[in-house]
This record gives sequence, structure tokens and C-alpha cells, in this order.
Amino acid sequence: MPVVSQLLDELAASARQADETPAWPEASWNVVRRTGILRANIPAEHGGEPHSSSELLEAYESLTGACLTSSFILSQRDASIRRLLDLGSADIRAQLLPPLARGETFTTVGLSQLTTSRQHGKPSLTVRTDGDATIFDGVIPWVTGASRAEHVIIGAVSEDGGQVLAVLPMDSPGVSVGPPLELMAMQGSMTAEVRCREVRVARHWLLAAPGQAALQASRGGTGGLETSCLGLGLTAAAVSFLRAEAVRRSDLTDDAERLDQQRQELRGELFQMAAGQANPKSAQSLRMRVNTLVLHATQAALTASKGSGFLLSHPAQRWARQALFFLVWSCPATVASATMTYFSNPAACGLA
Ligand SMILES: Cc1cc2nc3c(=O)[nH]c(=O)nc-3n(C[C@H](O)[C@H](O)[C@H](O)COP(=O)(O)OP(=O)(O)OC[C@H]3O[C@@H](n4cnc5c(N)ncnc54)[C@H](O)[C@@H]3O)c2cc1C
Repeated sequence: MPVVSQLLDELAASARQADETPAWPEASWNVVRRTGILRANIPAEHGGEPHSSSELLEAYESLTGACLTSSFILSQRDASIRRLLDLGSADIRAQLLPPLARGETFTTVGLSQLTTSRQHGKPSLTVRTDGDATIFDGVIPWVTGASRAEHVIIGAVSEDGGQVLAVLPMDSPGVSVGPPLELMAMQGSMTAEVRCREVRVARHWLLAAPGQAALQASRGGTGGLETSCLGLGLTAAAVSFLRAEAVRRSDLTDDAERLDQQRQELRGELFQMAAGQANPKSAQSLRMRVNTLVLHATQAALTASKGSGFLLSHPAQRWARQALFFLVWSCPATVASATMTYFSNPAACGLA
């Protein structure tokens, strides 16, 4: 779904504020709402206007080029909606999806404690049953837009090591949201830790309980196409800046073109995967290459901008900071390990 360029300009104009200010980026989110994308992954029966995954990815890509903070918040909201569609009961879908489609409510995910966070110690969030109630206890370390959300899709580990997914109503007794975490970029994402102190959740809110592999592989799991798409959107912002600079600085032309060529190749792969069945392995291989490209392209934009690019008023420093996010966000162990090999021995990856 093409996003009107005037809205992209509006979004870009607020991108610095959304990145630097630890407050909900209301102006930016309003622009996102006006693009119509909040309806795009919700079925028509619930007030949505569904688009194909390729159309959605195209929209994410252009929104990211304007403001990564906004598209990242959107990606977390949309990830929660995919869980509701895949695993939620008809009742839950009928209750939560219409106000989400109208942009009146916000949901997000707090699932990384099952996949990429806190995997080396005791479970961060545990779950047990007590008669008819399900009781959650512990910490959800990363929840984007937590203070803005009415509901969060959470995952916890039971005593026997099983995983339970549920919708957590944020007004449940025992739920508390920490202060926004101080981040090196995208402060407006309002990412926070959520604590659950013996929180009783009614059976109604339980989602299916997929195994670890299912959670990783299910639509939009860690390292999924959406994460690569955002990386490519940020790459596009840096590359188009370089191309514009190259118009009056011909020494930049070859570099800008080589980076754009790589971007287009990876973009082609992404949309091919979106049109077919992306298996987790190919999606993760793409993600690893996107990670290195977004680092290179944004650092090239900073290099070309010289000292001026180091000023907070210049977008090049913001893109370079934001690119580092892809090293740590929704980054499966295989991608992290391949990236480490690339850093320590690029020749071994054939990327030197
Ligand atoms: C800005 C931001 C927003 C995010 N938003 C969301 C969100 O909305 N929803 C969501 O589900 N997730 C979200 N995430 C989580 C993200 O996807 C990853 O899960 C997270 O970045 C993993 O980092 P961690 O520090 O929690 O990892 P951990 O593995 O818990 O590492 C923490 C620390 O533990 C130590 N450590 C790591 N491994 C070991 C080991 N094997 N042995 C001993 N010590 C070890 C290291 O010192 C490390 O610094 C977000 C992350 C960020 C940065």
C-alpha cells in the first residue's frame, strides 16, 4: 500500500523528536494513523482493510525511511495483532480488533523472554494455575509502548518448562510498568520493563501454547521479514541521502551506487520471500546481511556528512545510531553468532 509522500514528509519532520524524546510520539503516531496502515493487517469483519504481506512490507519500508521510531512501534503493534489472529479465540478477536483498527487502542508484545532475552538463567516470567485462574509472576524485560498499551501479548514458562502465551490486560492488579528505559536511540518507543506480581489472568485471555520452535517460526517470529524490512527502510534513507550528495560530489557516486545495488538485491530477496513461503533459515540469512548493510550504509552517510553529520540536528548521526538497534533487536542466536563471525573474521563470511 503506497504511503502518500506528504504524510512521509510530516513523519520525517518529527523523526528527531520521536528519536530523542522519552515521551509517546503522539504527532508521529497520528500521522501513522492517517496513512490507513492501522487497518491493513486486520480482517474486514473486524473493521480492517487487509493488505497482502508484500503490500504491508512496502508500507513499513517507506515509513521507516521517514521515521524508524514510528515504524518500530507499528511493527510491535502489528506483531501483537498477528498473535491475536493466529492464536486468539473468536471472542478475543471480536473484542480487541475493532478498536485497534480504528486506532483507538494499542497493543504490543512482551515475548522476548521466551526467545532472545534472559535465556541464560531462570525464566524471567513464570506461570502457574490455581483452580480456574492463571497466575503470572516475574518480569517482562522489554515492552515497547508499554505505558500506552491496554493489552500486551506475553509469554511465560510453567514449572514443567512449557510455554504459555496470553493477553495481559494492563489494568490487572499486580501489573506495573517501569519508567521508559534510557535508550541510545528511539526514546519515543517508550520501551519499558513490565512487572507482574502474582497477576491473575482469566482463562478467557489465554492464547495457544506453542513450543519454542513454533514461537520462533510462527508468523513474524524473531528475525522475521518485518525486522529485515525495517533495516532496509533505514538503509534506503541513508542511500538516498548519499545519492543526493553525489549529485554535487561526484566522488560519492560509485559508493552510493554500490550500496544501492546491495540494497536492491536484498530487497528483491525480501519480497520474493514475502510472496512465497519464507523458511526461518532463509529469513535469518537475509537478516544477517541486512544487519551488515544497514550498518555500512548509515556509516557511509555519516562519513560523507563529516563533522556536520555528527551534530544532533543532522539525520546521519541518527541513522547511524538507529542502525545499531538491528544488532540487538529480535536477533536470533544464529544471526548474532554469524554477525560476530563477520566482525571478527569477515573473510570467513565471504563478505570481506
Ligand atoms: C529498544 C528495544 C525495544 C524492544 N522491544 C521489545 C518488545 O516490544 N517486545 C519484545 O518482546 N522484545 C523487545 N525487545 C527485546 C529484543 O528483541 C531482545 O530480546 C533483547 O534486545 C535481548 O537483549 P537482552 O539484554 O535482554 O539479552 P540477554 O540475553 O538477557 O542479555 C542480558 C545480559 O546478560 C548477559 N548474558 C547474555 N548471555 C549470557 C550467557 N549465556 N551467560 C551469562 N551471561 C549472559 C550479558 O551480559 C547481557 O548483556 C526490545 C529490545 C530493545 C533494545
